[in-house]
Amino acid sequence: MYFRSCERQRANVKNKAELLANRYCSSEVCFSEIKDGILQCKCGENDAMSNKFEWKFVKEENTSDIVFSNENKDILFHPTYSHGTAVLRGEKPFAKNRHHYWEVKMISSLYGTDVMVGVGSANIRLADWKYQFCSLLGLDGQSWGYSYKGNIQHDQLGRKYGVKYGMGSLVGVHLDMWRGTLEYYVNRRPMGTAFRNLKRHEVYPMLSSTAAKSAVRITCAVSTEPTLQMYCLKVVVKKPALYREFKQEMPQIARIYEKKYFWIRPTIDIQTRALAVPKRQNKRERSDGLNFLTCEENLTSDSETEDVYGGLEATNRKKSDKNKRIRSLGLEDDCVFAIV
Ligand SMILES: [Zn+2]
Repeated sequence: MYFRSCERQRANVKNKAELLANRYCSSEVCFSEIKDGILQCKCGENDAMSNKFEWKFVKEENTSDIVFSNENKDILFHPTYSHGTAVLRGEKPFAKNRHHYWEVKMISSLYGTDVMVGVGSANIRLADWKYQFCSLLGLDGQSWGYSYKGNIQHDQLGRKYGVKYGMGSLVGVHLDMWRGTLEYYVNRRPMGTAFRNLKRHEVYPMLSSTAAKSAVRITCAVSTEPTLQMYCLKVVVKKPALYREFKQEMPQIARIYEKKYFWIRPTIDIQTRALAVPKRQNKRERSDGLNFLTCEENLTSDSETEDVYGGLEATNRKKSDKNKRIRSLGLEDDCVFAIV
């Protein structure tokens, strides 16, 4: 009995530590100003290009399980108590052949059966789940979801995917309707491709929650045409040395693209790490002329996030192995051109 209690305590401490690490807020002040269980800070809400909303969530008429406020940006699920799963869908489906990015900030504690962020078709009848507690998104072949517990689910198949998220986390959804892939971001860090083969589906943004008084704030809903610049920026930000070179050589261009594709921009700790590398090393890297070649490897890679922010080890390993690489000048030129 004693050991079980200790184990539970250790698990609780571990969960708490993990959740604390997954906040976007960098200041403890944010968490000292919680009002009625709702986070009051604006962290992550006023970044470049965010605060744009190409669509909004709509709720079913006559439902009291969901309350909108703050110009429909704040969504409160189960305002008094919970008796099942409340579900929300966006007002229109995602346009084909475009990149869509939308993001929600968790402004209350998350707990209970499930709180999920994802996409789903128009065939899901939202009211059917009113009296059932479930992990709704991904329960059938019509929806795809990411749980606050860190799992993803589609067609009743779930797997461990990314980090857990909770109060203070930013959860972004990057839906590439050109390729048909969906990737989540937590606090602007990519979690890797979660789902594929979405191209043939007509899907809407969706949220679901079983937790009483759980609340989220939508911080942006934008879309853009597919561009080589975007793909290249995505590759460049993964490599601190390459990112540093990009910032130093093309500061204006870097500013423009980082503003346009703000969710791809590395988080502050990665930027700091990139800037911390000595200048001499920087020169040597530039002279080897191989930096941009990594574009090809990464553009075609399926496991895009294996080394995402994993860091310098992966980059260094590749450098030591550089003689084995195949040079592809055509793509190198393309990538440089795309960035410029
Ligand atoms: Zn904050």
